[in-house]
Amino acid sequence: MLIQTTFQPEDLYNAVHELIRMAYPKHDLCQGGPQQADVKLHMEMQVVQQQVALTGCIVEGNKRTVREEKLDIITSENNRRSETNRLIRRFAYDLLVEHKGYSINSYGILTGMRPVKLAHLLLDQGMRPAQINRQLKDNFRMSPDKADLIMEVAANEYPHLVRGQESQDTVGLYVGIPFCPTRCYYCSFPGAIYQPGDSLQVFLTALQREMDAIAQCLKETGKTVQSIYIGGGTPTVLSEAELQQLFEHLHRLFISAATREITVEAGRPDTLSLSKLKLLKEAGTNRICINPQTMNDETLVKIGRAHDREGVVQSVIWAKEAGFKQINMDLIVGLPDEGKQDYQRTAEEILALAPENITVHTLAVKRGSPMAEKEGRESVGDRIKTVQEGLTMMGNMFRDSNYQPYYLYRQKYMQASMENIGYSLPNHFCLYNMNMIEERQTIVGLGGGAASKFVNTSDGELRSFYNPKNPVVYANEVDRVIAAKVDNLKAVH
Ligand code: SF4
Repeated sequence: MLIQTTFQPEDLYNAVHELIRMAYPKHDLCQGGPQQADVKLHMEMQVVQQQVALTGCIVEGNKRTVREEKLDIITSENNRRSETNRLIRRFAYDLLVEHKGYSINSYGILTGMRPVKLAHLLLDQGMRPAQINRQLKDNFRMSPDKADLIMEVAANEYPHLVRGQESQDTVGLYVGIPFCPTRCYYCSFPGAIYQPGDSLQVFLTALQREMDAIAQCLKETGKTVQSIYIGGGTPTVLSEAELQQLFEHLHRLFISAATREITVEAGRPDTLSLSKLKLLKEAGTNRICINPQTMNDETLVKIGRAHDREGVVQSVIWAKEAGFKQINMDLIVGLPDEGKQDYQRTAEEILALAPENITVHTLAVKRGSPMAEKEGRESVGDRIKTVQEGLTMMGNMFRDSNYQPYYLYRQKYMQASMENIGYSLPNHFCLYNMNMIEERQTIVGLGGGAASKFVNTSDGELRSFYNPKNPVVYANEVDRVIAAKVDNLKAVH
């Protein structure tokens, strides 16, 4: 199916195309083009001094919806562009909702990954929470329940964000180990599948080279590392000797009295043992992630995980025995054939293990994953109501057990009303996750597939850089990667 769009001026497309995709997720979008489209959408805009005049029309079969509005641009000269952009998006949203007859996105005109960031920005400007809540609904067309959720998360998270001099003087460090024992059905991430006995030495040598160069640059620019997140992939595919070596480098180069948090993504229970967990704890790790995704053994087989629920329980027991006081467990709602009873049982079993953090993801099928190839990326679409019920039920169960939602983000290909939420018991919020998601602090990503985000706190400018995720490509290109990252780090102000 095809939707043909025409815009006057043409760059209106950039402001509204994501909203059109949300209204028509199964249609291909084209600008101009064939006369035989299933849907035709036209929009025009004229700006005269402090007013923007917008007209729009959607034709779909016999149905025709026309909308016209003249809107005042009430803002300072500095914000004129973003305010005009907001008015255009709100107009397009209203046009699409009027035509469809239902909400196309419970986050309204916000289509990005970080909806809480807007609430923080308004809190920074001194606006009261009740006023912000109203703005989210009126000006950004967010549904009342999402506006309440955003404000709940923003209130929990806001006091913990780094700000001012601290955000200039500190960074978060991400170390990417891009290997996994097998590829999960819904995932396209791992750069390589690790087979027992594989040598990772070429990758680890390149990583050490990158660590040396970035440590030198951080020293020269006077920055310290506040939090470290070792992710992947599955970092615990590394042997104990390799992990020991990795931590020796981290201690020599990055870890100082300023380092408050070290997380290791020990995601797959099939890569864990009591001695490995003890080694991580003794090496300084103070937060660990053990990720069941579900506690349903049948589903674990379907999604290609080589562990069962018993393995999850055993890993948490070992992690506690090793001395971990901060354990996170990731869950996914929307996995194949799971329904309300599965979500309830998983939530009950996780609560019985009493981790300090629980992160609930909505399934977002990645392009290139086995699931996308077999079922298409719309595969949650048919189960959307069950998935929404599961998310709400789990959220209520966790809140009732004293967990608070403290960070939230959305992903590409995520269904219109859904999100990923980090829940935490009081005083156990993950510093790295909050400051990374809210773009409050520079994140330096090292290793395979690591993303870096350079944050200029003075003017809010953001620059991103991505390391290759294939370990062979990463090792071959590490000098280029280092040079680009050093330039970016030196430009942070
Ligand atoms: S979901 Fe995680 S553990 Fe599974 S393949 Fe992807 S990166 Fe590896």
